[in-house]
Amino acid sequence: MDIAENVKKILNDIPTNIEALAAVKTRSCPEINQALNAGITIIGQNYVQDAQRTLDCLKYPYKFHFIGHLQRNKVKYIIDKVDMIETVDNIKLANIINLQSEKYNKISNILIEINSGNEPQKNGVMPENIIDFIKSLEELSNIKIWGLMTMAPYFEDPERMRPYFKLAKELFEATKEIEQQNYKANILSMGMSDSYKIAIEEGANLVRIGTKIFGPRK
Ligand SMILES: *Cc1c(COP(=O)(O)O)cnc(C)c1O
Repeated sequence: MDIAENVKKILNDIPTNIEALAAVKTRSCPEINQALNAGITIIGQNYVQDAQRTLDCLKYPYKFHFIGHLQRNKVKYIIDKVDMIETVDNIKLANIINLQSEKYNKISNILIEINSGNEPQKNGVMPENIIDFIKSLEELSNIKIWGLMTMAPYFEDPERMRPYFKLAKELFEATKEIEQQNYKANILSMGMSDSYKIAIEEGANLVRIGTKIFGPRK
């Protein structure tokens, strides 16, 4: 199967109110262009350098989401290009994004990454802190927080990820009680190639797909 077929199959499979982004780490410009041509509208980049290298060669309209771990000193390289930063999980990073956005006279869209598995080695705000964390960003008027993102713990059997998606959805619903200018619970980004169907069943409205579009990573 080729990239275009893969994309069409995925887009056919998922409900129309769900968005699928292509996670493009390690992929070449021709590969990414094929995915865009077949109907992908959002690309997800994990690395600032990759984004700098590939964004210029894309031939179709796209939105650019940053989905990797973002270092504070790299924010300035993507802030004017990025449509959404999905992985904000600490106040210092949020502050820098806000400051850089101010410079560009821009309001940057972000999601808060939650560590749904409570895994100490992983990024993300711990579930019990999510409400307080969002509230702590209230004064940052050059960011708009649109919801939550999570990477569930890895299991070979994706069915075992379901409880973490459930938890993320519960937290997402809980954040709807927050009344704050720069927060609106709109997007829940979760699910990857082997788990997006389960994530959608549990309430995801944005899924992030790499392998199932482009094949195994080399
Ligand atoms: C690579 C990646 C994905 C996609 O993973 P696949 O298993 O290849 O679909 C999704 N989200 C993030 C944050 C990633 O880094």
